Amino acid sequence: MSFQLAVIEGDGIGPEIVQASLQVLEKVAPGRFQYKPVLAGGRSIDQHGVPLTDAALTTCKNSDSVLLGAVGGPKWDTLPGHLRPERALLGIRKELGLFANIRPAKLYQVLKDACPLHRETAEKGFDMVIIRELTGGIYYGERGRKTDSDGNTIAFDTEIYNQTEIDRIARVAFDLARKRTKKVCSVDKANVLESSRLWRERVHQIAKEYPDVAVSDMLVDNAAMQLVRNPAQFDVIVTANMFGDILSDEASQLTGSIGMLPSASLGETRCGMYEPIHGSAPDIAGKNVANPLATILSIAMMLRLSFDMGSKADQIEKAVEKTLLKGCRTRDILDNNSKPLSTTEMTAEVISALA
Ligand code: NAD
Repeated sequence: MSFQLAVIEGDGIGPEIVQASLQVLEKVAPGRFQYKPVLAGGRSIDQHGVPLTDAALTTCKNSDSVLLGAVGGPKWDTLPGHLRPERALLGIRKELGLFANIRPAKLYQVLKDACPLHRETAEKGFDMVIIRELTGGIYYGERGRKTDSDGNTIAFDTEIYNQTEIDRIARVAFDLARKRTKKVCSVDKANVLESSRLWRERVHQIAKEYPDVAVSDMLVDNAAMQLVRNPAQFDVIVTANMFGDILSDEASQLTGSIGMLPSASLGETRCGMYEPIHGSAPDIAGKNVANPLATILSIAMMLRLSFDMGSKADQIEKAVEKTLLKGCRTRDILDNNSKPLSTTEMTAEVISALA
């Protein structure tokens, strides 16, 4: 049986890293995927005048999953909001109902010198997954501006969650925790926000369905501090859209390089969107120097979460570790003892480590 994979190379370094990751995919699962190229982002704007056409969206909807490089770049920065390349991603997330953003943040021991934390903290390492609610909260609540009776301009954004939205993201966290160390930390601001108090109530309600998983709560300000004080304490973190946006960027920086981190966005079905967390890196596009590992690791996430191919995912992750242990580095993760490999050389190293 073969699966349909919608492939959005996107802009900037997108085509280079996506091609690299597809070579790895073909090596571990030869012939199992049919690739459906989809134009989205800046290249779609250039060709069709919009970041995502209906036909492109239909291809994504009819596929078993979507692989994305990255979209955007200075060429399209001055366009109005609804025509910006990033709009394509919002359209796909919304249409595919991708409400859960899953971002692992792992510090590879061989890259611990790139970690900006104290040496003893980095030595302990960390391996966490942040699950961010992706289609609700303040980014989607009512917003606007008005003028009060004194002529003062007021702007407002509304943090809003319903029980169903919280329950489903909590289940994603508990399900994932069962496959890891059975620990979920729910992050909120329940000392101040009513939406967070509902969040906390519902997370504890759902926790009753998972008696084997330990649940704890942490206020978001404390979580931001604990991430730099002792990141090793975390395993699965689940949190609302805006808190997750901020905490997952903080966690990613602790690993030393944005070029290493994969992500998945999932909904009610097995179809997900998989992408590196970094952007299109226009400053290095077309130079064959981008780190392909985040996209290669996104392929591993896809195999595990959407296609039940956990052992193939393990193979990829082990090959990446082996490659790093061998001393192979692209220039973003370079240390004093290595010379930088190109995108294609790094990919070839991973493929040979697979063999
Ligand atoms: P960026 O992540 O593209 O780049 C930040 C820095 O990290 C740059 O110096 C870049 O060279 C470096 N970098 C990123 N990925 C790398 C890799 N794989 N290997 C080596 N170095 C890497 O962020 P930015 O510069 O703020 O954004 C550039 C464009 O990407 C913008 O148009 C932005 O809107 C877009 N963007 C898209 C996505 C997405 O498609 N999901 C996400 C974030 C940003």
